[in-house]
Amino acid sequence: MQYFVKSGNAEKQRVACVVVGIFDRRHPTDAANAIDTASNGAIAGILRRGDLDGKLGQILVVHNVPGVFCDRVMLVGLGRERNFGEAEFRAAQLSAAKALLTTGSIDAVTYLTHLQVKGRDYQWNVQQATLSAEGAFYRFDYCRGEKSRAELQDPKLERVTFDVPRRSDLAAGDRGLREACGISRGVRVAKDLGNLPANICTPAHLAKQAQDLGKQYPIKVKILEEPQMRELRMNALLAVASGSRQPPKLIVMEYMRGPKGEKPIALVGKGVTFDAGGISIKPAAKLDEMKFDMCGAASVIGAIAAAAEMQLPLNIVGIVPATENLPDGQAVKPGDIVTTMAGLTVEILNTDAEGRLILCDALTYVAQTYDPATCIDVATLTGACVIALGHQASGLFSNQTGLARQLLAAGECVGDRAWEMPLWEEYQAQLKSEFADVANIGGREAGSITAASFLHRFTRKLRWAHLD
Ligand code: MN
Ligand code: ZN
Repeated sequence: MQYFVKSGNAEKQRVACVVVGIFDRRHPTDAANAIDTASNGAIAGILRRGDLDGKLGQILVVHNVPGVFCDRVMLVGLGRERNFGEAEFRAAQLSAAKALLTTGSIDAVTYLTHLQVKGRDYQWNVQQATLSAEGAFYRFDYCRGEKSRAELQDPKLERVTFDVPRRSDLAAGDRGLREACGISRGVRVAKDLGNLPANICTPAHLAKQAQDLGKQYPIKVKILEEPQMRELRMNALLAVASGSRQPPKLIVMEYMRGPKGEKPIALVGKGVTFDAGGISIKPAAKLDEMKFDMCGAASVIGAIAAAAEMQLPLNIVGIVPATENLPDGQAVKPGDIVTTMAGLTVEILNTDAEGRLILCDALTYVAQTYDPATCIDVATLTGACVIALGHQASGLFSNQTGLARQLLAAGECVGDRAWEMPLWEEYQAQLKSEFADVANIGGREAGSITAASFLHRFTRKLRWAHLD
């Protein structure tokens, strides 16, 4: 898809489709009014007849509107005007983009980017509108056969233009578009990796993807193999990998476009490409979804791709411990005790709590190798976090209030929210082991917090946050 930003009158656009908004109770926006005036009341007539009342996400496509130059006008319901906020803005953009794919239009100009959202500007408007559109346009069909892929009709839409009210808003709009294009590059990388099945997306595949990005962008990629992990005494990571025939990889990506010598931001992502639970095997239902247990890794690889695409002047290192977690004769067993890279011994009471095992060694590696200014890890670590927060927010844990606040605000800004959870020392008691320094599970209560508390044992000296 090609995207543009411009400024012009709605009734004068020579395109296949012009997109305008209608608030609840049939109250038109300025752009809809402009078309109404040019057409001598065509829009008002439609609203009067009751075909659209303006509920959020409602769509009505009107053809051959007199007095305008476009082939179609798409009316998009925006809901109650006084309730119109960030979520409503995104929802309207998303329904409009999805509907555009079904119209047969080659190009469209949307005026939904005129809508004002409290505390946001046109840079944000265009950025969020583009990201919503990219979300609507995303498809994953690499795994379909050639024939069925050909049968999936390609949408005709090629160009989307976001309109801003004044010429003086164009610069802000362009900035928003550039940011969105960089971000969506990273999002696509992450989504594709997530959607690939585990027989294709192995630890080696993740490593290969990182290396391919290293060929496209100024990213230095190193892959640590099993012998090096052994040398570094990453025994927790190796314990998880021991049940798999796929060799584990520790993927290291360095994007160093910031000031020379400035300490990097470290991003660490859990890369369990399939999690059967190991000897503590999971029940069969929804086991296929365990291919998504590498989505932390996908997020980190995607974030580095986005940073590189946007040429951000930052030093960032991305670290991905990648392995499968499977039951096998060689697999680690409940009760086994391993010595982590940090020297702490861990009693592995449940082999399905493997994410924290691979992360603790990765976090130690990051701290020792890079001494990062900030370290953020991303992981599908616990089912307990979804029980606590559902799918509306990631659990955020941090040992630095300032960092937590920054991450919460960043999440709000792009509609990918986090919610801060406690990391109180009292929870550490649940991780007591009879035989080792620490146990890898803390019981039924506060499951996501004890997981974060386990990681905290390895990140005391870091400015650190964990997203579950
Ligand atoms: Mn698990
Ligand atoms: Zn897992």
